[in-house]
Amino acid sequence: MVKLSTKQEIKEALDMPFSEFKETIMAEAIKVRKEATDNSLYTTAMLGYTNHCKNQCLYCGMRAGNTKLPRYRIPPCDIISSAQNAKDMGLERMFLIAGEDRGYKFDDLLGAIKEITKMGLQVSLAGGEFTDSQYTELEDAGVYEYVLKFEMSHEDTFNRLNPSTNYKQRMAAIEKIKSTKMLLASGNIVDYPGQTQEELIDDIMLMKQLDISWAPVIPYMPAAGTPLAEEGGRGNLETSFRQISIIRNLLPKARYTAQHPGEDPKLGVSAEDGNLGALNAGADTLFVDLLPAAQAQNFSVIDNRIVLGLDHAKKMASLAGMNINVKAIK
Ligand code: SF4
Repeated sequence: MVKLSTKQEIKEALDMPFSEFKETIMAEAIKVRKEATDNSLYTTAMLGYTNHCKNQCLYCGMRAGNTKLPRYRIPPCDIISSAQNAKDMGLERMFLIAGEDRGYKFDDLLGAIKEITKMGLQVSLAGGEFTDSQYTELEDAGVYEYVLKFEMSHEDTFNRLNPSTNYKQRMAAIEKIKSTKMLLASGNIVDYPGQTQEELIDDIMLMKQLDISWAPVIPYMPAAGTPLAEEGGRGNLETSFRQISIIRNLLPKARYTAQHPGEDPKLGVSAEDGNLGALNAGADTLFVDLLPAAQAQNFSVIDNRIVLGLDHAKKMASLAGMNINVKAIK
């Protein structure tokens, strides 16, 4: 039985030789996933419905300061049509993701969400920081899960890398979401330039403390033209796999993103080796991207977004010895 309840134990797990980590903590994470869940690879439709953003996060390709990025907004009627496409594929969950685009009318967003939930799809939404009353309206519209990453658990680091908001405001928004019926999905960025091991450990502890439903986390991937890309390159994949295994052991029932980069950076987070490595570390979630490939390139929180469909998820599930699950989460 692996013990990972203290910061010291997590530190030892992060410092352990990777081969030993695989045989102990990673093996335990797979056992925990099998016992705590139905060992499914959850496959979720994903739609980046606007790539406008008012914010200037130093690590993100969609930051307002990236004036070279072609911007788009998908109107509510087309969001609803995309949801119908997802439903026609048999998918019962939809992840709507956007920059903090306050030019997208909130009532239009609410209207689209209500239509999609009426179709019987379960909606997860990531639209950044809203007001408390807007979170209540999203809850009333039927949003199942709200995704608001804390990104980094140390206040000074957060404030440096997220100059359009601040840590206290982010955590207040997270607490508001926790007070609704919506589940809270959240998490960090793994191994960005300058992240210390202590910060990473505190990130893991914060995910546990927040009792998140899903950690949409990937290793840091530099986006061209962003200030943080000048401070260092891609985060360590092995560190991300370690985090997945550790957090799976700490929060057995939560979902963890398998969308990970591999050896070839051109494949973005859809590389088979990266996805399979994450699944074998204890992850369980992949997306079917509903954006046309050309538009997906402009939803550029990271560079090199590749659009893959259900066949990719089925192949990954088969290679990882998991069931594919496209149904709503009970
Ligand atoms: S991380 Fe989100 S809020 Fe920050 S710039 Fe990118 S899209 Fe905007």
